[in-house]
Amino acid sequence: MPSIASLECSRCHHHISAEAPQTVCPRCAGSLYVRYDMDELKRTARREDITARADASTTSLGMWRYSSVLPDVTPVTLGEGWTPMLHSRRYPGLYIKEEGANPTGAFKARGLSLAVTMAKHYGLKHLAVPSAGNAAGALAAYAAAAGISAHIFMPQDVPFANYVEGIVYGADVNLVDGLISDCARIVGERIRQQKETNTPASEVWFDVSTLKEPFRVEGKKTMGYELVEQLGWTYPDAVFYPTGGGVGLIGMWKAFEEMEALGWVSGKRPKMYALQAAGCAPISTAFDHHKPTSEFFPNADTFAAGLRVPKPYGDYIILDILQQSGGKAIASDDKAILASILDYGRNEGIFLSPEGASATAAYDQLLKTCELKPTDKVVLFNTGAGLKYTDMTAEAMHLKRPNGKKPLSPPTFP
Ligand SMILES: [Zn+2]
Repeated sequence: MPSIASLECSRCHHHISAEAPQTVCPRCAGSLYVRYDMDELKRTARREDITARADASTTSLGMWRYSSVLPDVTPVTLGEGWTPMLHSRRYPGLYIKEEGANPTGAFKARGLSLAVTMAKHYGLKHLAVPSAGNAAGALAAYAAAAGISAHIFMPQDVPFANYVEGIVYGADVNLVDGLISDCARIVGERIRQQKETNTPASEVWFDVSTLKEPFRVEGKKTMGYELVEQLGWTYPDAVFYPTGGGVGLIGMWKAFEEMEALGWVSGKRPKMYALQAAGCAPISTAFDHHKPTSEFFPNADTFAAGLRVPKPYGDYIILDILQQSGGKAIASDDKAILASILDYGRNEGIFLSPEGASATAAYDQLLKTCELKPTDKVVLFNTGAGLKYTDMTAEAMHLKRPNGKKPLSPPTFP
């Protein structure tokens, strides 16, 4: 495992030390990337060693199989990563990366495994996160595993599973009448108050918001390593990625850059597609208007809860990647998203999350317009298990529990 050489600002390229925990660039508030000594990495990190790892430990089968390109720390792991790459039964070029197979049922496990690992390494005691739902669940789980307190803030209408898992993992759960942007404001205010009232440093919360600390991207980059390894160390033609905060898209692009520098993959990088819901589409709106950053999307409303991010912090990075890769951003309405959930459920045996179905809906649309061929090699991310959204999906379908079958009474807790 390599040591971190520095943290580099994604906007102004200023370098700072990773000796102490860092949030964003002190000069311009840009998101920070973890950088290693690439000459050293070229000597020590070999893809043959990764492929050869066959012992049954969680750290060799999951995302920590890429420990040679991750920070040198003892992992806080629940078995995240190395998710199935399912070959579509209908489209010869389509592969669905089933991130619902992660602990906590969502891709968020990767970023928060690494963020919590680093928090433990730094000796942090309190972590806080504003979340659309799944990041809160993942933080709660990894913080519990690490013996760290988790303070989670999410909209009161998150999928019920996200609320329940927060409680089960023993987190400090706060439901907010608003969106993730309101949750982020509250977390920021609380931390500012704690500092102003001279709260002891060990009691001050550390904010692990999307792209406001460097290690969630670093964990999510394993999706890029993994999809390339699962395709025999080759690139697909395109990657379809449901985009709320966009950490995975940014992480994968970083992975491609590193793998090319290490000589692990070559050829043309995939076109990156950011998929959103029409009810909250800041990235696709900015992309359509050729803007380098997004505008706050008003009145965000979609049952794809993870896409209700009205102004992603890393919008400038996401839009740059779409541009560089020759991809695009597409928003589908809730009707098309629901239709796609039912289509993939019935025809592929996959229960997509609404976010995942925003990607399949866009895929189907591009097949119809012949912008894509069924033989084009596409890796499409189902970012979470459909089972985490049974309440939202049932509501969208107007599906109710059949009459006469009373739900079991909930158990009482002391
Ligand atoms: Zn900067």
